[in-house]
Amino acid sequence: MASKRQNTGAVKTKGAKSQQPLEQGDKQQQGASEDDVHQALIQGSSDLAPWLVPELERSLGLFDAGRLHHALLLSGRTGLGKSFLAMALARALLCDLNQGGGGGGSPTSAAQRPCGECKSCRLTAAGNHPDMRLLGPNKAGERGEIVVDTVRGLIEFLHLSAQLGGTKVAVIVPCDRLNRSAANSLLKTLEEPPEGVFLILATGRPGRLPATVRSRCTIHQLPSPRLDEAQLWLSGHHNLSSEKLRQALVLCGGMPFSAHNMLHQHGLDRLEALLQQLHRLSAGGDPIKEAQMWQDNPHVLAEMLTAVIAELLRRKHGGSMLGMLPAALSERLADATPLDSLHQVFEQITAHRRHLEQPLQGRLAAEAIFIDLSTALWGRAARSSL
Ligand SMILES: [Zn+2]
Repeated sequence: MASKRQNTGAVKTKGAKSQQPLEQGDKQQQGASEDDVHQALIQGSSDLAPWLVPELERSLGLFDAGRLHHALLLSGRTGLGKSFLAMALARALLCDLNQGGGGGGSPTSAAQRPCGECKSCRLTAAGNHPDMRLLGPNKAGERGEIVVDTVRGLIEFLHLSAQLGGTKVAVIVPCDRLNRSAANSLLKTLEEPPEGVFLILATGRPGRLPATVRSRCTIHQLPSPRLDEAQLWLSGHHNLSSEKLRQALVLCGGMPFSAHNMLHQHGLDRLEALLQQLHRLSAGGDPIKEAQMWQDNPHVLAEMLTAVIAELLRRKHGGSMLGMLPAALSERLADATPLDSLHQVFEQITAHRRHLEQPLQGRLAAEAIFIDLSTALWGRAARSSL
């Protein structure tokens, strides 16, 4: 019999809500609160995107064989769906079918877990499972970090006896937000957790984790989905032409959850607006004036411009275009611009993106991006600054 997961799009488990758009890093950049992120995780993780399924089944196979490491670090690009995989694995580890449907027999095949119907699955879907904790950054005032008190609370919880089934699971996403003392306080538990405890960490930026944390985890490196696979999945969530879906994916570096978020927030309208701005800027428009609409989300501007410039570079290098830009605009922008200038502005925007990871004033960031763009591509600085 075909597995319920051997399907093309997201597969829905009975009783679960549809997968909400999010992936930690993107959501944060686009202004959603951490509460939204965690709520979406709780509600959405029974639908697992198809490219994440092999890793879930591999991990469950290891679990069934008694060889699953107690501390896992899921790593892979932001927008891939790591947080959803972490939650799905947590649910599967707690699912009653691990005990042979509750009857004490051998575990049900990995493809059937989490079942979405047993008591444990219903509790995890409601965010109420007594043997599971989902940890993320705390709210304002703690600068988006996971702080030491939160980790101490988690450790205390993990040392209490399990209330159901014997397994306890902690999910920490994104784990690169553990601040130094929080990470230090977690080390002993990562190394030697209580019996039956699993810690599942996920991040798109493993390099930001202290080496002491990384070295205590088994790292599961997740591959990115193929573009056609991602597009098929995305088409199950958005009723748009394949051209628009492809455009959104290319704009988000091929990462389906990033594209899902962007479309959810009318991102293609923003792209249209940006393309109009490029027209105006190339005709002598004022970067400072154009920057105004991006002052609340300079991250989105920087990401979109990165994709736009990458597309122009592909054109310059004679590579195949991914169809993100209208032909007339890409011709106008690419053909009139020296290759060196495109490379220069690509590097400048990449540098801006790095700085955007630090808290700073959005308006100034958006202005700086447009001023660099205008200077590099059209050889002039902002009018207002002259
Ligand atoms: Zn279940």
